[in-house]
Amino acid sequence: MELPFKMAEEGEVNDSLAEFERLEFLRDRHVRFFQRCLHVLPERYSSLETSRLTIAFFALSGLDMLDALDVVEKADLIEWIYSLQVLPMEDNSNLSRCGFRGSSHLGLPYNPSKGLGVLHPYDSGHVAMTYTGLACLIILGDDLGRINKEACLAGLRALQLEDGSFYAVPEGSENDMRFVYCASCICYVLDDWSGMDVKKAIDYIRKSMSYDNGLAQGAGLESHGGSTFCAIASLCLMGKLEEVFSEKELNRIRRWCIMRQQTGFHGRPNKPVDTCYSFWVGATLKLLDIFQYTDFEKNRNYILSTQDRLVGGFAKWPDSHPDSN
Ligand SMILES: [Zn+2]
Repeated sequence: MELPFKMAEEGEVNDSLAEFERLEFLRDRHVRFFQRCLHVLPERYSSLETSRLTIAFFALSGLDMLDALDVVEKADLIEWIYSLQVLPMEDNSNLSRCGFRGSSHLGLPYNPSKGLGVLHPYDSGHVAMTYTGLACLIILGDDLGRINKEACLAGLRALQLEDGSFYAVPEGSENDMRFVYCASCICYVLDDWSGMDVKKAIDYIRKSMSYDNGLAQGAGLESHGGSTFCAIASLCLMGKLEEVFSEKELNRIRRWCIMRQQTGFHGRPNKPVDTCYSFWVGATLKLLDIFQYTDFEKNRNYILSTQDRLVGGFAKWPDSHPDSN
């Protein structure tokens, strides 16, 4: 009586094992994918030129994760990154515009941070470039010795708004949780929180908690996996997570995050899953100490189903183009 049932069950196990074996992680393909991202990108990526430093960051952190940093020319990359630092001029009149630019698109003379800055009406740092520039230098083993810390912090302070959020650039731009996170990373890396009014930033984060207990880009907006990561990670970098949210509130945030798992994760209720949320939500669950309660196999299989087996890289959905970020 028991036999047929048992055999069916074994068949199922074998099927899922076969599935598991087909979904192999193609490490070397991904190493080559990231190498290409560092050198040359197809034309459809040309609009990303002004944020080239962020592409370098995704490629370098990917190679770092794969333990493959030996494939890059570290010294050359370090010089290139330093050439993107917006340096103060002799009279410090551009201090509030310092930080990192995304690429050399303005055509300023090449200067790997070994002298003073040159004035250019459109030259200024961008908070995401400053964050990813610093992160790239650390990944490459640089000691940040040529960073003009005071200028970076002054440039950062100039970006904060009265409500605690940040602009990306001193000319003004969108202001939301993404840039609060970039600003927190910069202060953390430079080990100096004088780059922001921490109290105001915390206030902004608290007010961004939505009625459903996820966190949004700002007050009154819809909660989202990406902004929830940015908010929680910022508080962790500040060392203030437990001070800002009570245990009861943290449990509600945990619940909102863990409910985002379908096979992989989605960023908002009733949205399709997308590879990137395996990071945004997965990392938040890790920071909140409950990643171990997710379905690890389902998540892994979803991610691997979006893997490009030919050129390497991952897409947001199966059978679509991989992208560098
Ligand atoms: Zn996405």
